Amino acid sequence: MEDQLELIKQLQAIDSALKNLEKTKLDFPKKINQLEKEFEKKKQSLEKGKTSFEEAQKERRKKEKDLSRELERLQKSQDKLALVKTNKEYQAVLKEIDDIKQHNSDIETEILLFLEKTDTLAKKVNQEESEYQKWFQEFEKKKETLNTELEKSNQDIQNQKALRDTILENIEPDLIKKFEMIKERRQGLAVVSIQDGLCTGCNINIPPQKILEIRKSNHAIMQCPFCNRIVYFEEHNDEDTE
Ligand SMILES: [Zn+2]
Repeated sequence: MEDQLELIKQLQAIDSALKNLEKTKLDFPKKINQLEKEFEKKKQSLEKGKTSFEEAQKERRKKEKDLSRELERLQKSQDKLALVKTNKEYQAVLKEIDDIKQHNSDIETEILLFLEKTDTLAKKVNQEESEYQKWFQEFEKKKETLNTELEKSNQDIQNQKALRDTILENIEPDLIKKFEMIKERRQGLAVVSIQDGLCTGCNINIPPQKILEIRKSNHAIMQCPFCNRIVYFEEHNDEDTE
């Protein structure tokens, strides 16, 4: 029969590794979720910029249409000027032309302002767009890395579980039962070493008599009298024996 203490130590090592792996695995969805949220935020801010640009552009086009309508009106008034018969009519049309010209000049000023605005907004959108592209590449890379890590983590878990099954085959059923029971009561840690006379599970000094007993037991399954964990001596600390 294989050394049961060695096997149970290996089983503990695997279970501790599995516990860590499962814990790490829980972080992945959170990390990916956070990335996705960031992505949504960036996209929305970009969309907002584009919308402002489009709105300003629409306003500008509207003003341009107004202007061309006013220019037609101006032309009509000017044509009318050639047809008027009295001085009074002539003055009235002149006044009309003046008014239209003043109005057009106002529209032109507005169009210029909108041109400046759309220009600024277009530059801003372009810059945001190129920043976004860069960011998006990073985002894709980060996501890929996370997914690769997750896959690796799943693979590790599978490997550890397979190894665990192999080891279990060689451990006596009673010992497995004992191990699982202690593990459940002691936060997943059922097998610990003794260092400087101290149980590293509960950090209590094991009485010298018990230490002696454990040393003499020659790899038998021994338990800490305080926390009941299965205890062993680290090989390199084991100078005193033999
Ligand atoms: Zn203990």
